[in-house]
Parts: sequence; structure tokens; C-alpha cells
Amino acid sequence: MPLAELHCHIEGTIAPDMARKLAKRHKVKISHIFGPDGNYQWSTFPEFLKTYDTVSSVVCTPEDYYDIAFDYLTRAAKEGLIYSEMFVSSEHPEDVGLSFDAFLDGVSAALDDVEAKTGLVGRLILTAIRHRGPERAERTARNAQLHPHEKVVGFGLAGDENQFEPKDFVRAYEMASDAGLRRTAHAGEVAGPESIRATLDALHPERLGHGVRLLEDADLVSRVKDGGVTLELCPGSNIAIGIFDSYETHPVKAFLDQGIKVTLSTDDPPFFHTTIGQEYAAVEVAHGLSRRDMMQFTLNSIDAAFCDEKTRKRLRALVETWIRKNI
Ligand SMILES: [Zn+2]
Repeated sequence: MPLAELHCHIEGTIAPDMARKLAKRHKVKISHIFGPDGNYQWSTFPEFLKTYDTVSSVVCTPEDYYDIAFDYLTRAAKEGLIYSEMFVSSEHPEDVGLSFDAFLDGVSAALDDVEAKTGLVGRLILTAIRHRGPERAERTARNAQLHPHEKVVGFGLAGDENQFEPKDFVRAYEMASDAGLRRTAHAGEVAGPESIRATLDALHPERLGHGVRLLEDADLVSRVKDGGVTLELCPGSNIAIGIFDSYETHPVKAFLDQGIKVTLSTDDPPFFHTTIGQEYAAVEVAHGLSRRDMMQFTLNSIDAAFCDEKTRKRLRALVETWIRKNI
């Protein structure tokens, strides 16, 4: 089954084995973040963030970035992933003294090699980190203006949704638009519909990262639907951090029933003990969806992808051919 993903953070895709390999490469000790089964072990949200930061800290060179992108995408391609947009931050490379160009070269080479080997097409979304504030976000957007790159196709905002206001990031988004980047933003994950409304008002995103709290506000549902805004849903992530109890109680089906364009992604897969294949399978089983329903998620992702039209057309044809042959 062909799958597509619009929402995963590059450092969040690092599997425990890869983290151990990079820690060894840089002679850093990170054994405290693993449980007895060898997986990441955390229980509260602050602990998750700490574990995430520890894992990110072992990514220091262009080669490391190549390795993590190549490793994740080749594993996901085996599950059927044909298109992936990854969130990349220029702030982490900056923190470890890596230039924006060197960092992008590493990731971009991995995307090229993955596409040559598996056919999976990868693109990147340059992402500001909300809790680090608007000035840092503008520095991130400046990078897009100064160093345009064919694989960087979008601009995003991630991080702590309860810090700063969306309007604080208007300038960063304007700079990113100047650089030709399309717009997405995390909103309505830990904060409620008011956060979604403020984000739509200030930043005019074409897509919302999560947006799961949307259903609490009927007016907002109409606005998102009429505006053709696509939601990047990550059910396993929401369940892992306690927003919903299970795939059965996750509102993914309610979104489908209301005719809102929704897609499926993993966010930070090994941290939430999931994969893109598992997300599709869990949603299919929990909500009794048909294969045709499941393919709608993939088609929605391709329609809302920030890639060029030629690539979109080719990917769409691939999925439509699969549907004709298999459904
Ligand atoms: Zn995210």
C-alpha cells in the first residue's frame, strides 16, 4: 500500500540503534535514556523532551545528518512510503557549530540516495522553534532567503505551543514566503481551538500540524474545511503524550466524516514506538476503514504536499495505478 507522510521531525526519526551508533562515534554516553528493552524510555512529557534533546545532541556533522535521514527513509520505504516531508531546524546545526549549507548538504545527499535506491521522494520543511522566540525564527527564515535549496519547500513552526503568540512570527513567515516557501504550523495539539484560530489569523498556513483540537469549535471546523486547510494528523504521537487514550478514541474518523482533509504521519516515530506503516494499520483497524479510505490519506498528503507540480502528478499517478490494480 503506498503511504505518504507530511509531518516528521528529522531528529525525531533517530532509531535507538542509530542513536547508540552516533553516541559511540562521538564518544558520548547516553545509556540512561534506554529502557531494559533497548528502546527510548520516558514517561512524562518533560522527560520525553529531555530524551529527545539527548538523542539530538549526538547529531553533530553532515555525515550524521546523512546517516539519520538515510536510515529512517530506507526503513520507511520498505513499509511503502513513497513521499516524505521532514521538518528540519537550522537551529540545532547552529547550536553544534555546523553551517546551514553543510547541514543541508548532508540531508540532501541522503534524500538523493534514498530516491535512487527506493523511489521514495523526500522534501524538507525548514522549521522554527516557537519557544526560542521570534528573533531566532527570523534567523531561521533568513537562512532560507540566503541559501535557497531545491529540497527545502516549506516553512514551519514547532515547539511549545503555549509560549509566544502566532502573531509574533508573522515576520518570519513573510521572510519565508519571500524565499518561496509554503506554510505549515503546529497548532491545536496541546493548546485548544483558540490556538488554531490565532495561527490561521496571523500566519495563514495551508496546513496545520496536528490541529486535533479543532473539533471543539464548530465555526472553526467550517473555516478550516472551506479554506481547504489540510491537517497533518499524528495519532500515535497524540496517544503517546496523553491527548487521546487510544486509536479508537482518536478523532481521525470524525475528521473524515466531516469532510476535512486529513493525512497520517508519525511525528517522532521511535520515541512513540511507532512507524508510518503501523500508523496506517492502527487507524485502519481501530476505525474499520476500507483500503479506499486509507488511500484517501495518501492522496490527501500528495495533494497538500509542498513539492513541485510535476512530482505531485507523478506520485498521484503512482497511487491511482495502485488503487486500480488492488482495490
Ligand atoms: Zn510535530
